[in-house]
Amino acid sequence: MFNSAFLDLPPLEEARGTVILPGSKSISNRVLLLAALCEGPTVVHDLLESDDTRVMLQGLRVLGCEVVHRGSAVRITGIGGRPHPGPPPGGEGVKKLFLGNAGTAMRPLTAALALIGGDYELSGVARMHERPIGDLVDALRQLGCGIDYLGNEGFPPLRIRPARDLKLDAAIQVRGDVSSQFLTALLLALPLVATRDIVIEVVGQLISRPYIEITLNLLRRFGIAVARQDWQRFTIPAGSRYQSPGEVHVEADASSASYFVALGALAASADQPLRIEGVGASSIQGDIRFIEAARAMGATVDSGPNWLQVSRGAWPLRALDLDCNHIPDAAMTLAVMALFADGPTTLRNIASWRVKETDRLAAMAAELRKLGAVVDEGPDSLRIVPPATWQAAAIATYDDHRMAMCFALAAFNFAGAHVRILDPHCVAKTFPDYFETLFSVSRTSAPHIPVICVDGPTASGKGTLASEVARRLGYHYLDSGALYRITGVATLRAGLPLDVEHEHSIARLAEALAIVFTGDRVLLAGEDVTDAIRSEAAGMNASRVSALPAVRTALVALQQSFRRLPGLVADGRDMGTVIFPDAGLKVYLTASAAQRAERRHKQLISKGIPATLPALRADLEARDARDSSRAVAPLKPAQDALLLDNSSHAVEESVALVLRWWEEKQPFGQALEA
Ligand code: C5P
Repeated sequence: MFNSAFLDLPPLEEARGTVILPGSKSISNRVLLLAALCEGPTVVHDLLESDDTRVMLQGLRVLGCEVVHRGSAVRITGIGGRPHPGPPPGGEGVKKLFLGNAGTAMRPLTAALALIGGDYELSGVARMHERPIGDLVDALRQLGCGIDYLGNEGFPPLRIRPARDLKLDAAIQVRGDVSSQFLTALLLALPLVATRDIVIEVVGQLISRPYIEITLNLLRRFGIAVARQDWQRFTIPAGSRYQSPGEVHVEADASSASYFVALGALAASADQPLRIEGVGASSIQGDIRFIEAARAMGATVDSGPNWLQVSRGAWPLRALDLDCNHIPDAAMTLAVMALFADGPTTLRNIASWRVKETDRLAAMAAELRKLGAVVDEGPDSLRIVPPATWQAAAIATYDDHRMAMCFALAAFNFAGAHVRILDPHCVAKTFPDYFETLFSVSRTSAPHIPVICVDGPTASGKGTLASEVARRLGYHYLDSGALYRITGVATLRAGLPLDVEHEHSIARLAEALAIVFTGDRVLLAGEDVTDAIRSEAAGMNASRVSALPAVRTALVALQQSFRRLPGLVADGRDMGTVIFPDAGLKVYLTASAAQRAERRHKQLISKGIPATLPALRADLEARDARDSSRAVAPLKPAQDALLLDNSSHAVEESVALVLRWWEEKQPFGQALEA
């Protein structure tokens, strides 16, 4: 997960490999609710782990369901249509449910709770309180449900009270032209009260029909056979009862697949197509039909029951004029593909975009323009003329996961324009590891991958500075000193003395080190050596082995292998001079010997390691002397390094300064957000 304020994507060139997609959001949340309404347990496999499913699970707990995580599966024990008899977990009275920005939780839970009975308050984030729910509330009120608006008329937050004498004899009318989730909510919940045939009539044109197909399909799996006449009239038969299928497997998310289908079309070669696993041609999700649109734009797509393989076909892509009502979410991906087309693309019938996580029509138009496209935003359509010249752009994401995910593809612009994604963590709504997954199949030449070097003498605070800068940029971090420290430890463990005579044996050992960095721990051949390499003696030993030229050479490739997407911050002695001479920013960090000795002293004492100031100072001066006088890669600032003396700086000041230096080199022309 990227928790940084922004994520910079360098120009990306090629895609290959395999992605395994997370579970579908639409299927996950429907299955969870259905499992909750059954009697007895249902085991749900491959459930999407994301913000939206998390709030749904919380909602089910408040309802009184038992939710148990078992590895990658979740076991839900349903309430059989009745709320838990005991006092609610939050005490007596109104049960409060906070549902974030999850429309797939808010709408169906409103219907289910209103029919089950009980006192509830349903709320969400500010944007959720701007997303309409009036048509659903109107439909439920016709039945006799007690629902009040606590804020604005027609929008959450809502207060639900126990229903009185439900009127089930007349057909229930619901509008279908704002969100199909209203109809879905009724279809999922009304079997609760199907003592007689219940008829739902859709008023107006039904949009996003494929989502209703998912709903009907899953209801069938839970024992409820809804009869449908065209897409206007739905009948839930008298006596319908939710029956758990025992186990359910959630298919991967077809909307999430769209980004990788597009990626294949942009950047995978025919001999090495991009493989997507978890969803295939026979998916029950409507967004799978995105494939047809991608093919029309030129993608080459092969598919099987549970997989897709995609590569570039026509290039540039072919412009498109398409009614996207059947693929509202995945159509956002088409808008970004349109940047790569041979002419203007028009996406029609997408008015529903205006009431999603954000007003997606306006958001899409604004952000596409930043990249250089000419965009006409119609009331329910978007016309996109590809950029004549690509421009570097900082893309706002409006707390909308799909904005972040589809715009990341713009980094494959082949014109070298950089793309910054603001607030990249919004992908957590449906695909927390989206960027990691994208990077795992994206390639670019090494010089494109940004590197920041922080070199300097012992105890100058390099590690603290470099790791914090890495965190703020979402970059990888390399502590190169640790590699020499580990080499020292491994050498002694192998019974070798740390001297010149054994240089080549030590080098061979260094080349074969089995090192794993996990979080803040370091493993050597599976053993946690974090503490062992941090002692003063280990530092001194590192300094000894690091003076041996063959050892330094042996560690070059390993250090350079840390240069991975989206970027790297590396600290050491020769990062800027030897290992990454082309780094975009080189910082040489110093502090007075007295200051450094003091800092190290504090550090050791706080860890309960005895130390004295004069001895420490003598040690670090000896280490500096050896590091700066050795024949190979002596400690010295790179010619193009910026000097930073942090003797009198707090860490945060140094971090801010380095981030500012970095930002000044970026093409986005805007101040760095703190
Ligand atoms: O930075 P740290 O104190 O962990 O480094 C331990 C020793 O490893 C240093 O004193 C230095 O001799 C050596 N080293 C090096 N080149 C690097 C990093 C560390 O020679 N890039």
